Amino acid sequence: MTAVEGRVREAHRKRFEQEGKIYSAPARVNLIGEHTDYTGGLVMPMAIGFHTVAAISPRQDGRAIFSSANYGEVREFDIASLDKQPTRHWSDYPAGVVWSLKQSALTPAGFDMSLEGDVPLGAGLSSSASVEVAVAVAILSQMGRKLPLEELAPLCRRAENEYVGAKSGIMDQFIVAGGVEHRAMMLDCRSLEYDLLPLPEEVCIVIANSMVRHSVATGDYGNRRDEVEAGQAVLRREKPGIELLRDATLADLVACRDKMSPESFARCKHIITENARVLAAREALLASDMKRFGELMVEAHASMRDDFAASCAEVDMLVEIANRQQGCFGARITGGGFGGCTVNVVKAELADAFVEQVKQEYERAVGIKADCFISSPSDGALALAAKGGAA
Ligand code: ADP
Ligand code: MG
Repeated sequence: MTAVEGRVREAHRKRFEQEGKIYSAPARVNLIGEHTDYTGGLVMPMAIGFHTVAAISPRQDGRAIFSSANYGEVREFDIASLDKQPTRHWSDYPAGVVWSLKQSALTPAGFDMSLEGDVPLGAGLSSSASVEVAVAVAILSQMGRKLPLEELAPLCRRAENEYVGAKSGIMDQFIVAGGVEHRAMMLDCRSLEYDLLPLPEEVCIVIANSMVRHSVATGDYGNRRDEVEAGQAVLRREKPGIELLRDATLADLVACRDKMSPESFARCKHIITENARVLAAREALLASDMKRFGELMVEAHASMRDDFAASCAEVDMLVEIANRQQGCFGARITGGGFGGCTVNVVKAELADAFVEQVKQEYERAVGIKADCFISSPSDGALALAAKGGAA
């Protein structure tokens, strides 16, 4: 039992005077394939060893009571009368899952639930998908139901998109639910077909948090999505057979260059080349060629920086420092951009030294202490539940 599980179990006992059943869902990091998901493209995430843990026990009055140790707060409501009414409170995420279950005609009976996660909140490691999937798996298990990954992930995504009101693709919920130990996942965000790919044990994945975030104030994330949509609309109009950017080649894009803004052209170029890099990264993993994989990460970073214009000076510095360390195959920005985390593929035996050196050099260069986590691919919530419920 992990420390978080122990605490959640105890907290549940204390507050609800019941033994809770324990379920947990990991966080995730995306190795390559950035900003490709919402145009039906390819991504390659893996689940990582941070978890949101949920303890659940039944109650007889049709109410849902959620308690989160991360916030020290409780929210309760009547399940039958829950409407789509977000409150901009953390509890929108679990309430959104209950709402989404109801939309799928899976209305749960009453329950008490205790939550606690060790996923850094709002750091780009998808604590949101982690809490959604943990809540969904716990409730469904109490109902004696199991949904396949292809239904569970969209159900949780709907909670985030429609109830919470956050734009996000399918990647986060899919990998958080469907990840497998020692494997990265290449996911086709259009068909939801996926491949589990071995990550050699000689490497580990270092996640470095730059501790900066520039997008909140400026709304750049939304702008990028608008620029992409505009470019995609031109391609759809001009080229029969193109439904999503995923269908377009670089030649298609070049042919439409003068019909779109330079920004739309550059954003679409990033996405089209990124989809190709994900396929190449898959080949590299199948060949255990981490040198090639690292080169693709370096190219992917340059594309996020130059074509997608979604990096920033601090993250560029963090990547540059990482790329010159011994044992680093490649580093790049991960997540939505404008700050946040980098992902680094590093020789396992050099990972500790890598972290020390990167932290030191980054602090010297920009005056900020980076947070670094050494991780490897973990089980998703479904694999954890199959193995007995917990991490
Ligand atoms: P990220 O997914 O990158 O961590 P988001 O802003 O998408 O950031 O999601 C973070 C939100 O998810 C939190 O602000 C909170 O509302 C919710 N959340 C995540 N983990 C928990 C938890 N353990 N308890 C309650 N709410 C949580
Ligand atoms: Mg999130």
